[in-house]
Amino acid sequence: MNKLQEVRLERAKEQDLRCFRLRFVDDAARFSVMGLSDIYEVEISQDAELWPPTCTCADNAWRPELLCKHIALVLHRMGASDEQLSDCCWEPSQSDIYELLFSAPEAVDSESHSSEGSSGDIGSLGHSAPTILSEFR
Ligand SMILES: [Zn+2]
Repeated sequence: MNKLQEVRLERAKEQDLRCFRLRFVDDAARFSVMGLSDIYEVEISQDAELWPPTCTCADNAWRPELLCKHIALVLHRMGASDEQLSDCCWEPSQSDIYELLFSAPEAVDSESHSSEGSSGDIGSLGHSAPTILSEFR
C-alpha cells in the first residue's frame, strides 16, 4: 500500500469523473476522461513493457511513476482491484494487460454514448481509429 497512490484511487472513486470515449490507436487503448475542469487522455499500451499507462494531466507529468486518478478510474472500471490500484509498484503481466483491455469498453460511461454522437469504434480491439483530439483543444 502506498499513501500517494491510495489517495488517487479514492479521488477516482469519489470525484465526478467521466470516461466518455475509447479509441484504439496503434497498440494502445486511449480513453478520454472528463476531470473536474478539463479533459485528459489516458493511454494504456497493450505492451506490458510500456507499463505504467500515461495521462495528459499535470499530476501524471509530475509523478509519472504513480497512477493518476484518471488512470486509476479507467483501470478500476476495467476490473483492476483496489489492492492493485493502491499499490504504486503494481506491474501487471502481459496476460493481465490483455484481460484488462478486453474490458476496456466497460470503462466508458454508457449514458454519455448517445450525447457524444458517434462511438462506432468502441469495442473493436485491433482496429485503429483515427485520433480526434483537435475538437477538444
Ligand atoms: Zn491524469
